[in-house]
Amino acid sequence: MDLKTLIRDIPDFPKPGILFRDITTLLRDASGLRYAVDALTEKCAPLGADFIVGIESRGFIFGTPLAYQLNLGFVPVRKAGKLPAAVHSVEYALEYGTDKLEIHQDALLPPGSNVLIVDDLIATGGTAAATAKLVEQSGSRVAGFTFLVELRDLAGRRHLPDVPVITLVEY
Ligand code: AMP
Repeated sequence: MDLKTLIRDIPDFPKPGILFRDITTLLRDASGLRYAVDALTEKCAPLGADFIVGIESRGFIFGTPLAYQLNLGFVPVRKAGKLPAAVHSVEYALEYGTDKLEIHQDALLPPGSNVLIVDDLIATGGTAAATAKLVEQSGSRVAGFTFLVELRDLAGRRHLPDVPVITLVEY
């Protein structure tokens, strides 16, 4: 299946000059959604992860069914102030200013677990690299990353640790 036909391009969103790759048109398509989750499952199974970490918020959409299919637990990484128990935090640079991501301190136990990090899309790689730092702060190991979409021109992979990066659609 050509998943690109199900992803909609929205020019100048959320600001001028950004071509937004809208996956909601893929999500609403029953066979597209099934195909995407099944393909991610098949490609990610060999990584031998112990946990799936999904990045707020579109990483939750793909991370949870992937965890279910691989029979793994799912751990959310959220924007600052959303998680109720004790957290590890990491601040990372945006185009303008900084942002903060958090993970529960007791989410990735036992220490030394292998973690697969999931998001819908990799652009500059800053968000995924910050999430990898949270996994390391938790005493765990990043086994790999998976994204439905990769924007290759932005070379986000070079900001990630040297582990497998699995993607389904490239622009
Ligand atoms: P980055 O940290 O630059 O890799 O940005 C990744 C995050 O921003 C992901 O959670 C994406 O959902 C979102 N994002 C960045 N650029 C785009 C884009 N062109 N279209 C859709 N989502 C984007």
